[in-house]
Amino acid sequence: MSDFNISKTWISINCPKCDYSIDIQLRDAMIESTVYCHNCKISIKLLDGSASASRNIKSIENKLDELNRTLKNLF
Ligand SMILES: [Zn+2]
Repeated sequence: MSDFNISKTWISINCPKCDYSIDIQLRDAMIESTVYCHNCKISIKLLDGSASASRNIKSIENKLDELNRTLKNLF
């Protein structure tokens, strides 16, 4: 049931070319969609095994920690 909320979570990735910060929804990463850098206009395939993908996973873990803390505060 929490999957729905997690998929709506916004995370930041960095453009592998110019390091510009790009906000995506976790859902986009899950379906491996392609996003565009607003700065240098390249397309970035999410979860493509590049360095940006591993940073991506770290961001997701941080968000999950935040979510856990939020849930603990609620109960
Ligand atoms: Zn860029």
